[in-house]
Amino acid sequence: MDTVTPEQRSKIMSRIRSRDTKPELLVRRMLFANGYRFRVCDRRIVGHPDIVIPRCRALIEVRGCFWHRHGWTWNGRKLVQETICRDASSSPASNRGFWQEKFRRNVRRDAEHERQWAEEGWNLIVVWACALKPSVREKTFRFIRRTLEKWREKPTAPHVSP
Ligand SMILES: [Zn+2]
Repeated sequence: MDTVTPEQRSKIMSRIRSRDTKPELLVRRMLFANGYRFRVCDRRIVGHPDIVIPRCRALIEVRGCFWHRHGWTWNGRKLVQETICRDASSSPASNRGFWQEKFRRNVRRDAEHERQWAEEGWNLIVVWACALKPSVREKTFRFIRRTLEKWREKPTAPHVSP
C-alpha cells in the first residue's frame, strides 16, 4: 500500500531524477579524458540531447532506466517489454494510470526525438544507466569509444546502443 502524499512523491521523483544525472557525468568525464570535445544539452538541436560531439556527428543520450523505461517500446497502442532491465521492470502500485501515462509519454517522446535526429543525419548512442554500473562500465566505455572512433573516420551509421 502506497501512502505517499503528492508533495512527498514529487520530492522522491526529483531525487530520483537528480540521481539519474550522475551516469551522464561518468560518460562526460570518460569522453573528456579521451580527448573528445563535446557540447552539453544543446538547445539548437531538437530534444536537447545530453551530449553532442560535432566531430563525429554524434549524439549521446544517457537515459535513466526507470523513467525512460529501458527495454520497453510503444507498439502504437501500449508499451510492450522487449528486453528485461530490472530497473525498469516495476512500476509503482498506486496511481497506476498516472504512472502508465507518464511512462508512455517518455517512451514516445524519446522515440520521436530519435526519429528526428536520424532525419537530421545524427549518429546516436543511447547509453542506459544500467550499462554504467561498476561491473559493466568499462565494457560500455570501450563500446562508446570504438563506435565514436568509427564515426570519426566515416560519420554515418545507424543508431546503436551498448
Ligand atoms: Zn536498464
